[in-house]
Amino acid sequence: MSDATPLLNELNTKLLRSQLLATVSDLLGWDEQVNLPPDSADQRGAQRAVMAEAQHDAACDPRMGELLGTLDARRDALAPDERTIVRWARRDFDRETKLPAEFVREKAEQGSRGYHAWAKARAESDFASYAPVLEKNLELARREAAYLGFGDRAYDYMIDRHDPGMTAATIDRLFGELREELVPFVREVMQSDVKPRAALLRAFPVDKQLAFLRDVTARIGFDYRRGRLDTSLHPFCSGTGSDIRMTTRFDADNPLDSLFSSIHETGHGLYEQGLRRDQHHTALGQAVGMGVHESQSRLWENQVARSRGFWRFFEPKFRESFAEQLASVTSEDLYLAINAVEPTLIRVDADEVTYNLHIILRFEVEKKLFSGELAVRDLPTAWNAASEQLLGLKPSTDREGVLQDVHWSDGAFGYFPSYCIGNMMAAQLWYHALSLRPDLEQDFARGDFSWLLTWLRENVHTQGKRYETMDLVKHVTGEVLSSRYLMRYLKERYGALYLKS
Ligand code: ZN
Repeated sequence: MSDATPLLNELNTKLLRSQLLATVSDLLGWDEQVNLPPDSADQRGAQRAVMAEAQHDAACDPRMGELLGTLDARRDALAPDERTIVRWARRDFDRETKLPAEFVREKAEQGSRGYHAWAKARAESDFASYAPVLEKNLELARREAAYLGFGDRAYDYMIDRHDPGMTAATIDRLFGELREELVPFVREVMQSDVKPRAALLRAFPVDKQLAFLRDVTARIGFDYRRGRLDTSLHPFCSGTGSDIRMTTRFDADNPLDSLFSSIHETGHGLYEQGLRRDQHHTALGQAVGMGVHESQSRLWENQVARSRGFWRFFEPKFRESFAEQLASVTSEDLYLAINAVEPTLIRVDADEVTYNLHIILRFEVEKKLFSGELAVRDLPTAWNAASEQLLGLKPSTDREGVLQDVHWSDGAFGYFPSYCIGNMMAAQLWYHALSLRPDLEQDFARGDFSWLLTWLRENVHTQGKRYETMDLVKHVTGEVLSSRYLMRYLKERYGALYLKS
């Protein structure tokens, strides 16, 4: 036992209290989306406000500051894992304490004002009424970055909040490379004579859909003794590895939506369930950031669950559950429906190929807003031009253009890039896994997903926050993150389907 042990123990106790309070808040949030009676929202709002206050107090406990100061000074005497715990606790503590109370209040008020202004502007497709909100949000973001020592690198700060260590310059390079190859590839796919048959899957009873997707998610490894699946308006995954709460939604005429969104959330859940259970309160048992989280959800949703091998195992079961609905659907039509590509103006409706273009669009616009190259009032014009260039589609209203996403209304800038970073990372992890086990799809065809899950557990999940986003990719795959593997994956899978000559 080093002389730092009693200090580390005290720090651990404080971190545990903070983390437990956060899980209670999460649970209230989950319940609000899944169970809350319609007229009970006021009480829930008050409950959540009290919890947020308690959480903030626990996270800003002055004793925590003293402990971190002392441990920082003795850094050299700490073991590497202990250093990781202290470094991240310091970062979280600074982010809780360096913002003046008045600023935090102003930001919270602006957040709720912003949401309502956005909802109204979107309903009326009225960008002008929303522009002042965006201007204010940008100003708050710049001030926040300055308080936290990022100086005038406000956009880097926003990105770092979601993907630690990542910068706008890195993303600029990655997205630039991707854009160059992806835009012409999508054009090529669009010119293909191969078209998925619309309205192929109809009248799938919801109870049977639920039974089927529970089978699928359990088979790929989700532990239902430490988690649940319920329904909500928008699918999400919350909680920690000790108690994961996933949701999905059902549409009798779109069974693939509930299936794939469940598999996506299961990917998030598997990551959380694979984090070290004895360390959920420290950096050793917590997710690195959003990009890595998305890499896990997308890997299971796309590389795994849209593969031929996966469907060799699950198609007979799918047909058994839905014999009548699938009677006149061929295997090839089903596989094409699973891998349909069709550009759309709306990000949340996009397929996995064109989805990345929606993200590149948002990144390019955000980057220019922060650099001052683009004024808020010129945003709709810039958005529409980028949409035409990237997707070949021009929004006819701002509602289906710049007003479609909620994120910026409460200042969540720098959030979108994580989705595409996650896609790149998923593809890079996938090819690395394949290099180690070329027969991976044959495992899937037998319904065996254990090799892949075990590999992810060992290399990604149990690492916690030992590595920042880019370092983790390098550590696991031996290469820096690149767009190359995502393009290779898209070309192999979608080229084979749409561009066979
Ligand atoms: Zn996700």
